[in-house]
Amino acid sequence: MEHNYDAVIVGSGFAGAVTARRLAEAGKRVLVLEKRSHIGGNAYDSLDGAGVLVHRYGPHIFHTNSEAAWRFLSRFTEWHPYRHEVVGSIRGKFVPIPFNLHSVDLCFAPGKAARLRERLIAGYGLGSRVPIAELRRQSDPELRELAEYIFENVFCHYTEKQWGTPPDAVDPSVLKRVPVLVSEDDRYFQDTWQGIPAKGYTALFERMLDYPGVEVRLGTEASERLRVGEDRVYLDGEPFGGVTVYTGALDELCGCSLGRLPYRTLDFQFETLPVTWFQPKGTVNYTVDMPFTRITEFKYFLGQDLPGRTTIVREFARDYAGKEGEIPYYAVKNPGSDRLYAAYLKKISALPRFYLLGRLAEYQYYNMDAIVARALERADEILAGWEATA
Ligand code: FAD
Ligand code: UDP
Repeated sequence: MEHNYDAVIVGSGFAGAVTARRLAEAGKRVLVLEKRSHIGGNAYDSLDGAGVLVHRYGPHIFHTNSEAAWRFLSRFTEWHPYRHEVVGSIRGKFVPIPFNLHSVDLCFAPGKAARLRERLIAGYGLGSRVPIAELRRQSDPELRELAEYIFENVFCHYTEKQWGTPPDAVDPSVLKRVPVLVSEDDRYFQDTWQGIPAKGYTALFERMLDYPGVEVRLGTEASERLRVGEDRVYLDGEPFGGVTVYTGALDELCGCSLGRLPYRTLDFQFETLPVTWFQPKGTVNYTVDMPFTRITEFKYFLGQDLPGRTTIVREFARDYAGKEGEIPYYAVKNPGSDRLYAAYLKKISALPRFYLLGRLAEYQYYNMDAIVARALERADEILAGWEATA
């Protein structure tokens, strides 16, 4: 088959779509291969039967301190100024998470709460973010007791449900994502820029990919058209001399020949209910009981005015087994999986102009903004390489 693409990109999530747009704006012809029936990767959203815009692969809230990422995406969307708030359901009370000074007030008797507040502020400073592991190392007995309370009621059971292992077996960077906040800021994220695309993520992706030179093939598993040899990439059976950007799972690219990289997957249980609102905040984390980790009520995100109906989703986590229809959502990072990833990297190291990009391909726990920022940098690097060889 004749083709004249400068670049082939596998995947149309943030990694693939941002790169495609950037390369096309520089005049390159880009083919995007996407195995799902839609663009947007895990950020994909669509209206359900009740008219609620739901995130089909779990709740996605955009937040960033990267001005480059924010500016770039703002070319394709207006933002609804949503500020995500999460509460933990702790023995019948809804308590702000990250655990903060308001949470202290809700969980302890007034005299004790006042003392804990004072000690947190004196020990760490107002506004600080303290990883739970650090708080647990406290020498002050009252603060250590607080740390154990938070560990037991916020982290321990949720983490076991999410990762299938006790918290000590989880990479420490994971729990650091949700520090204890010495502040009265009830927002889940404190980044400078945050919001939800006003018309949803899918509309954002449609605009991003609508550009001369970008051709998107949906429902196309990359291996149907692209094959990687030891030192060469083939497109439709012919050697491909252009750039390849792969945003899928690296073990799957290599036929899992060295064994599977461990991932956690999620089962989503969507439900539409005949009430205007179901819960007090966008997300409630079930940190003590229930088999699911959290419930998200989508109407909060865009403030949709739909009286008498609402849609929620419950998330159930389990190991990814690579079965048909399963999606690897979370890389399970540990020394063993890092070694296996490095071995796969070695296998593809001789491929010329071949780039791995994104949460799956890089086997990292990246948020959307990190992927956008990385894709922008990687696209610049690819374009600089082209200029150098032109
Ligand atoms: P993906 O979105 O996974 O896109 C990869 C694409 O490649 C997919 O469309 C896939 O179908 C396609 N693909 C893979 N292999 C092949 C193949 N062989 N052939 C063809 N196509 C292929 N981030 C935030 O910033 N805020 C949040 O609130 C947030 N919430 C999240 C909630 C959940 C439940 C999860 C799982 C993630 C969340 N994230 C959030 C992270 C966010 O989803 C990722 O950062 C982002 O989607 C990564 O983009 P990506 O392009 O790397 O990967
Ligand atoms: N976590 C927890 N309890 C909570 C919130 C988070 O134990 O109420 C832990 C859990 O291990 C989780 C990790 O912190 O996997 C990161 O949480 P985050 O909200 O960033 O997870 P994500 O939204 O990416 O699933």
